[in-house]
Parts: sequence; C-alpha cells; structure tokens
Amino acid sequence: MAQKNVAGPEIERLIQLLAKLPGLGPRSARRAALHLIKKKEQLLVPLAEAMGVAVREIGICSTCGTVDTSDPCTICSDPKRDRGLLVVVEDVADLWALERAGAVNARYHVLGGTLSPLDGIGPDDLNLASLIERCSSEGFSEVILAINATVEGQTTAHYIMDQLSDLDISVSRLAHGVPVGGELDYLDEGTLAQALKARTRV
Ligand code: ZN
Repeated sequence: MAQKNVAGPEIERLIQLLAKLPGLGPRSARRAALHLIKKKEQLLVPLAEAMGVAVREIGICSTCGTVDTSDPCTICSDPKRDRGLLVVVEDVADLWALERAGAVNARYHVLGGTLSPLDGIGPDDLNLASLIERCSSEGFSEVILAINATVEGQTTAHYIMDQLSDLDISVSRLAHGVPVGGELDYLDEGTLAQALKARTRV
C-alpha cells in the first residue's frame, strides 16, 4: 500500500533540509521542524530572518579565512590584537573555541582542513600559500600551530614548520597531555605517553 502524505511538500522539504544539519537525523529533523512550525512567531520567523541576513552578509575574510560580515574580519581589523602573534587553526570552529577560552590575544589563520594525501587533499587545497605569504610580509615573531593531534594534523604541522624554517619566526605547537580535571585512569595510552614526554618541572 502506498504511503499517504500527511502534509504538503513544503513541510517535507523543511524536514529534509534540517536533516542535513550535523547531529540531526531524519527523526530529530522531523521533531525540530514541528517545533519550528508550532513556534512560528517566536522561532521560525526570527530564524528565517537571521538566515536571510546570513545569506546576504556573511562571507570569508580574504586575509585569515574566517567567516564574518566584514572583510577584513572583526579580528583582522582589531587594533588591540598582538600584531606579532599568529595562531594557525584547521577550522573556524577551532578559532571560536580558542576565542571562547580567551587565552590568547592574537590574530588567526584558518587552513580550511588538513593535508590528507589518502583523500587527495594537498597543499593547494588549503589556505597554505596565503599563510606563508602572511608570515613573510606581516612581521609575526611567533606562529602557534593550534592544529588537531591527528595524523593529518601532525602532517600539516610538519609541512608548515618546514615551509617557515627559513623565516625568522619562532614556531610553537599546543602541548598534548592530561586535560584539566582529567583522571589518569581514563586517559588513552597515547595521551598519557605524550603527557609524560611533555612533562614540566614544578
Ligand atoms: Zn580575518
């Protein structure tokens, strides 16, 4: 027996689009769509307006590669940022995470991924040429590689260190180790071994 439609195709389309969001499967997309429709004035209308603005206004910063409504972005044009310090991240989400932590007052460079020869991702597929160019011309004294501790991340870090080796810039990487509040018993062997290797004198 053919399945009967319970609603018009517009609602089905909303569900299908929501189901493409990270963390939402078809079932939760259906619940989210229904929630939006029920809260039309409080939620659906403001969300649609915010998305309309996003579509019109948001682009990629041509200097650092982050997303913003202005180019150069808010961070690149902030005169209070340390001009000598550049933090390299894989993704905008990592930049946002570091900014939330509030631990560094630097400028950033977003690579847009990591080198992965197996997936056919080479240097030309990432914002690497612009990174080398910035490092040659913008007078940074230190570059911090805040890149994930994955095999691809480490390959990318090595590539960048190699490319910057002729410049008079100190290159550093994030420490790997025991997370704040972490219990040794729960750590994987790799993290524990790294934490021991990178131990600091107290
Ligand atoms: Zn920028």
